[in-house]
Amino acid sequence: MPSAIVVGAGVFGSSVAHRLAGAGWEVTLVDTDTPGHERATSGDESRLMRSGHGADAWHTRSAQRARELWREIEAETGTSLYVEAGMAWFVREDGGWEADAERVMHEEGIPTERLEPGAAAERLFPALGTADLHHVLFEPEAGILRARRATRTLADAACARGAQFVGGRAEPDGDCVRLGNRTLEADWVIWACGPWLATLFPDVVDLRVTKQDVLYFAAPKTWRTPGVPAWLDYDGAFYGQGDLDGRGVKAASDAIGPDFDPDTGDRTLHWSMEQQVRRYLRRRFPPLADAPLLAHRSCQYELTADNRFIAAPHPEHARVWLLGGGSGHGFKHGPALAELVERWLTGAAPPDPTLALVQRATPASLSTSRAGPRAAAPEAR
Ligand SMILES: Cc1cc2nc3c(=O)[nH]c(=O)nc-3n(C[C@H](O)[C@H](O)[C@H](O)COP(=O)(O)OP(=O)(O)OC[C@H]3O[C@@H](n4cnc5c(N)ncnc54)[C@H](O)[C@@H]3O)c2cc1C
Repeated sequence: MPSAIVVGAGVFGSSVAHRLAGAGWEVTLVDTDTPGHERATSGDESRLMRSGHGADAWHTRSAQRARELWREIEAETGTSLYVEAGMAWFVREDGGWEADAERVMHEEGIPTERLEPGAAAERLFPALGTADLHHVLFEPEAGILRARRATRTLADAACARGAQFVGGRAEPDGDCVRLGNRTLEADWVIWACGPWLATLFPDVVDLRVTKQDVLYFAAPKTWRTPGVPAWLDYDGAFYGQGDLDGRGVKAASDAIGPDFDPDTGDRTLHWSMEQQVRRYLRRRFPPLADAPLLAHRSCQYELTADNRFIAAPHPEHARVWLLGGGSGHGFKHGPALAELVERWLTGAAPPDPTLALVQRATPASLSTSRAGPRAAAPEAR
């Protein structure tokens, strides 16, 4: 039976642990904290799930596969993780990123619908500012993952399949893992440490870690999700959803925030960020512009230079793999990426060169905003 140590029980590490344990591997899952904890990137209540990724078919297919796998995980665990509320893409100009996404989704057999702004306002939202919209692209099979619950469920399901969870701060030690005064060994070691990956492997991992704020506003019942879909404004670099599970209407800027330390960074909300989000709400969802702020979370993106994930062997230790670089859009892909990792580790398929630890040259636009992976975002319009 092959063995693996997976360090990091965020969505990436927990997905891999779950996958390998299900394939009969002997798996040890290590984390400093509980899966989906407050400072982990997987630690917020919700993450959007979409198949549209501009012209990129790899991520479109990965999201589709992940959707199937999330449904299987729900069935296995009896836990509701995915709310298929649909997603409205606010399209300001025809022929751009969303048109590419629409084309690729069509080629992949993923349903989409073009709505006139007026029809979208009538059908999808209690109120919608449409003055700047060319149309709304509706992706009915998109939606929202209950992220923290999903991360914990995956880690628990990995343990139910035989994985062992070990608490503690791990350190790399060649092919092994140091945990206090113990050294752990296995056939494979997978470091899936989110924003901490760069500090653990500073010579080989290039990540920029940034502060990203998510705000939740009190709203009347008409703003509940499902009912109200998730939404994305690619050109404006904003996204959000209706009130899911009574947590409030979520709205956030997708502009790349300031550099951030996940251990010591200040997670308070800056007044200017709240104003920026309210300005957007005033234009897009006018009745919510002055809604009471219910909650706020500061999280972090761990950005690769081209927005693609990292999934690759360490250059000096072939049995040590590094997995991360979620780049603000990784959550949904977790189980699909884990399926690929299993294939790569067993030699069933060669590692994907686009996820290698090389200098990333070509910027890809895979996140939810035109701002690009590390560029400054456009002023929210
Ligand atoms: C504001 C925001 C919005 C986002 N929106 C979306 C979205 O809508 N859709 C989407 O798909 N994705 C989204 N993402 C991205 C997604 O959340 C991340 O890509 C994903 O959660 C990354 O998971 P991870 O497992 O790599 O990292 P993490 O969740 O950070 O997990 C890493 C784990 O490693 C552990 N660890 C670190 N170092 C050590 C060590 N030395 N020893 C032991 N354990 C260690 C940590 O404690 C942590 O639990 C968003 C991200 C943010 C911040």
